[in-house]
Formats: sequence, structure tokens, C-alpha cells
Amino acid sequence: MNLFDTVVVVDWSGGNERGRAPSKDAIWACVARKGVSDAPVYLRNRQLAEVWLHELLEAELAAGRRILAGFDFPFGYPAGFAAAVTGCADPLELWDWFEARIEDAPKANNRFDLAAEINRGFGGKGPFWGNGLARDIDALPRTKAAYHNPFPERREAEQHAKGAFACWQMAGAGAVGSQVFMGLPVLARLRRAFAEHLAVWPFEEPERDIALVEVWPSLTVSAAREGVIKDAHQVAELAQKISGLAPEVLNQMLSVSAPEEGWILGLGHEAHLAALPEVGGELQPPPLRNDCFALPAGVDWTPVEEALKLLQARLRPVVGQEEVSLLQAGGRILASDLLALRANPPHPNTAVDGWGFDATDIEVGPQSFRAVSGRSAAGKPFEGVVPKGSAVRVLTGADLPHGVDTVVLDEDVAVGDGEIAFHGPLKQGANTRRAGEDVAMGALALASGRVLTPADLALAAAVGHGALPVFLRLRVAVISTGDELVEAGDVAGPGQIFDANRPMLLRMAERWGYVPVDMGRVADSRTALRDTLDQAAREADVILTSGGASAGDEDHVSALLRETGALQEWRIALKPGRPLALGVWNDTPVFGLPGNPVAALVCALVFARPAMGILSGAGWSAPQGFDLPAGFSKRKKAGRREYLRARVRDGRVEVFQSEGSGRVSGLSWAEGLVEIGDDAQDISPGDRVRYIPFGSFGL
Ligand code: AMP
Ligand code: MG
Repeated sequence: MNLFDTVVVVDWSGGNERGRAPSKDAIWACVARKGVSDAPVYLRNRQLAEVWLHELLEAELAAGRRILAGFDFPFGYPAGFAAAVTGCADPLELWDWFEARIEDAPKANNRFDLAAEINRGFGGKGPFWGNGLARDIDALPRTKAAYHNPFPERREAEQHAKGAFACWQMAGAGAVGSQVFMGLPVLARLRRAFAEHLAVWPFEEPERDIALVEVWPSLTVSAAREGVIKDAHQVAELAQKISGLAPEVLNQMLSVSAPEEGWILGLGHEAHLAALPEVGGELQPPPLRNDCFALPAGVDWTPVEEALKLLQARLRPVVGQEEVSLLQAGGRILASDLLALRANPPHPNTAVDGWGFDATDIEVGPQSFRAVSGRSAAGKPFEGVVPKGSAVRVLTGADLPHGVDTVVLDEDVAVGDGEIAFHGPLKQGANTRRAGEDVAMGALALASGRVLTPADLALAAAVGHGALPVFLRLRVAVISTGDELVEAGDVAGPGQIFDANRPMLLRMAERWGYVPVDMGRVADSRTALRDTLDQAAREADVILTSGGASAGDEDHVSALLRETGALQEWRIALKPGRPLALGVWNDTPVFGLPGNPVAALVCALVFARPAMGILSGAGWSAPQGFDLPAGFSKRKKAGRREYLRARVRDGRVEVFQSEGSGRVSGLSWAEGLVEIGDDAQDISPGDRVRYIPFGSFGL
């Protein structure tokens, strides 16, 4: 019964606020679902972390999802401590006891004083030791030299966790003691807020919608990754691994009895955790389900919009990830949110060549300043302080020296011997750029799924990234089917035609940033087609076929997909569009496009393109259309959507003279499509119609 939809792992911190720049030793959290983690979240102080957690738990509850939240500090102390402090062995009473006494603000808290107060109750030499403050605190030894601990040094769990720190140490590297003091009050408040929805493991049965558990990221460390903050990587990895556990394994991990001291989730099951996929390089998402293309049962034609909604809901990325240098990242798809490692601009600087000074109290009328010798140039800042009443020469892009908040333009200044003059007033801050006015440190610079443009590379560079996590390129296999097909340029015998779809579809895949995989032509033979599909499923992430997708004798694509039980014949209310067969072959999605080149192109643009957007990690995208006056007339019945080959001339939309589905010349003539809605329409010249240029489809 212990199945959690969502897992969040939090790397807690007992210290003070860490600033806006994502840094180690701060709080990091990461959410994972179904064995795949999101990007780690940086929380610079506990107050923000508490709000974030509260909102996350609320949102998950509201969405009807069960959530397991792991924290990397002990939920209990060694046996005897809780009873000695509160008079009751229940560790959750101790949580409330701490909650009532800890005072916490981003930059100060009373943890050392509270540790000393507890020590005083036990003779003043322990159990707590370590003082991170400059002032001495009576009854809190700085070191273990004169230390006496009336309780066991470690919990049972820590006997099994090699390298885990004892909870009595309040300061120094790895001091778990402070994390417990500063963590339990937050958990106590969450517990109160979510009351009957929340259980604290292992003190309570984790059978409610929210389970709080103790974790220890070092249980399953994979090698440190260059350029990645260790804490961030660890929470992502552990969250992903826990969420990828089989229910029976997680159940086993959760069936522990440690009513007073608590336990570390996964202790004793390290091998299971180690075997699960790591975050980054090796990550391969689970295969798609066979029924992912199923349409609602019934005999009716499915409207295009409904079919698209289904695709959008059922698909997800099928590619792994890698890290590439910024210079190689153009056109690739960003695999996680990119936070600014540095503000842009990093320091206040000048936007013009001129003179810089402190503009406090400047008024209307003539102004004069003493000229300081030296200057500030881009990359060569002025090192000294500019005293009030003095000005220094500054060049565009230079950091503002200390004592300078405003710059006056060269052109507005008269320069004399050792002084400068200009006419006031001048607004304080004029001609300068504030630090972070473009992007603040730690802010989201680029969102996961972004197809990286040249400008995105500039932004990523400006905020400090030299390498980017990207999805592996989606490999798109293209197969043409039909006995009548010969390769373009070869000799065509009677009844034969040249394969026109394959060059078109391969080039489309390439234009969309994918890796085209040419599987050639296959005759109308089930064995041959089966072999080619097998090979395509090995070499590609998605398969596009054309031809053979109807229900006729020679329609082997649909026949084979039906055999494996994974065919969905899509009866879509679309012209040109029939027939479309969607299926899954050896875990690889197959788009069985119609053979007619016009229908193959329209179906590829309307269905395969947005679907492949999701498979590739870029996400769903609807093409941008424009309403323009028609330069044609057309009558159409209700009940299906139509796409006509079109282009714009003199501000009007023209359509190709024939709607014939085999007319390849019309495809080449067209520069876009006109989309005519499902309802009946009687279009006359001048009526507004929706034109979608091929550029909007990424061609
Ligand atoms: P099918 O869907 O296999 O019944 O094919 C429908 C029509 O499209 C037939 O006229 C085929 O000859 C034609 N066709 C199929 N595949 C191609 C191709 N790769 N290039 C050009 N025409 C094709
Ligand atoms: Mg055919």
C-alpha cells in the first residue's frame, strides 16, 4: 500500500542564510516522480524552505497525490534523551519541545544557547558540544576535551551508517547537531499544519498521504560531477532513486521498528538503491506503455483537437541526457532549469564614458568636483575609494569604484586642471547599471525544455555557465513502404514511382534538430517490414513510416502493429489525413503516416511534430498561425478539419489550384497551410482564414 506519487528529498542546513547565489551548505531540495527527478531547488534560508515545503505538500494533497518527504537529519536522539528532557520517551513530544524554544531568523538563531541550557540540566559538560559563535557560552564545551555525555554517543541506526556524524556535535564540518535543532521545529509545524494527513516515519505508520522520513544522501552517492554542487546532485539522485523503487522494496525499507531513536530510510538496502539509474549521463526514462496511443472507444471520428490533447497527455521524454560545452549547445534542448550562477551584470558599472562620483545632495546649477587621478576601465577597475566631492574618469563597462553611484557623460563635462565641472541636477544613479538589474543571482535564467537559441547561449554565458545539461538528440527512423517504390534517380519500371516521402521526412527530422536515421524502402512484405521495424527500434527513439497504414490487404504497417496488440487506428476527422496508424514497436513509438505525400506531410506536421517535441524533451508546441483575408473561395461541410496548401501574396492567402492528395508540386509551391476549422464554412474572398507558415512548424 506504500506507493508514493511524489518524492521530495531535502538537504537541510543548521546555519544562517546563504545569499542568493546557489551555494553548497545551504538548503537544497528536489522533487522526483516515477523515477525521474526535477531540477534541484535552491532555498537560501529555512524560512523560505518552510514556505516552499508547505506549498508543495498542499499542492500535492490538492492534486490527490501521496508524497514522501525525506530530510537528512535524525528524527530522534539516542535512547533516553527524549524522556530525560521532556519527561516522555515519545520523540514527537521532543519535536514540540524544540519548536517552543528555538528562535530562528535568517541571520541569527539561539541554537547554541539552547544546547547550553540543556547541558546545564545534565551537569554542564554535555551531551552537546561545539560552539560556532565567537563568544564563549557557559556549559557548552567548544571541544570534546572536557566533555561528558550521559547518553549513548550514537543511535542504533548510526552504528550501521559508516561516516554518519553524531547528533551531539553542534559546530564544525558535518555538524548534525545544529541541523536537528533547526530542523525539528520546522517539521513540528508541518506536522501540526497537515495534522491527520501526515505521518512521521518510523514513529507513526506511513499510511497517510504525507510521510516524513529521515534520509541520508551518503547512502547512495554516485561520483561527484564537475560543475554541479554536490548537495544539489545528491538530493536529485536520492529523490529519483526512492521514487523509482518498486513498491515491495520501498515497503520493506519502511517496515522498521525504531520507536524512539528513528531510522534512516534505505539503511541495509544500499544495493537496491545503488542499482537504480543515476541522475544525468546514464539516465534512461522507462519505456512508453503499449496503450499510449489509445483513442476513446466508439465508431465516431475523433476531432483533431481531441487527438492532440491525448497525445499531449500520454507522451513523455524518451531520451537520456548529457552535458555539452556551451559552444556545442546551440539547437540542443535544455534538460534542466538553468539558474544564474552569477548576477548580470555582476557589479554596478557605467553605461557610458564619463566621470563618476557620489551624487548625494547634488542640486540644480553648476557643479564642480576634484578630479581623482587614475581611472576605471572595463576589466581594469579603479582600486581606491573616491572621496565625496571628487570624481574619477570611468569608461563604458567599468565597475563603479567605491564612493561612486552616478556618472555624468563626457560630453556634458568641462575638464580643467585637477577638477571637472558640469550643470546639475543629475539623477542619482544616472548612466549606471545596477548589479543584477538584468538577472539576479540564483534567478531562473532558462527553463528546462528550451531549444537553445543563439541568444540563449549568450544568456547562459553571462550568468556563468560553460557547459549545459541537454537531452540526447531524438533519433528519428524513417521507413517508406510499398512495392511500387524505387529510389529517386534509379530506373523506374512499369507501375513504379519514385520514393518521394523519405527524402521529405528525413529532412524534416533534421530541421527539427533530431538525428535522421534512414531505414530505406521496404516492399509490401510482412517479414521484410518486421525486420526493418526491429532494426529501427534498436537504432532510433521514434519511427516514422509512410504508406501501408490503412486496413487493406497490402497495408502491412497496420497489420503488423495490430499483431503486437499495440496498434491504434486513428479515425481522425481530418483532410488530408487518412489513414493514420499509431503504435508501439518494441517500446518504440511508431507514427504510421499515410502514403500520399500531401497527407504524409500534413500528418507529420500536425501530429508527429508536437508528439516528437515531447519525446525529445522540448515539450508540446502548437504552431503560431495568423488570421489573414482569403484570396479564394471554398465550401466545406461540418465535421472535419481541413488543411490546404497555401501561401501569402499581396496580403491575401492563396491556395493551390488542386486539393489532390498526390500532387507533390503543390507541396513545393506552398509556403504554409490554411487551417479550416471543423465546423461548416463557406469561405469567400476577403473572409479571414487562419494561415500557418511552414516556419511556424519549424520548417
Ligand atoms: P498507401 O497508403 O500505401 O496505400 O499509399 C497511398 C498512395 O501513396 C499510393 O498511391 C502510393 O503509391 C503513394 N505512396 C506511398 N508511399 C509513397 C512514397 N514514399 N512516395 C510517393 N508516393 C507514395
Ligand atoms: Mg502502399
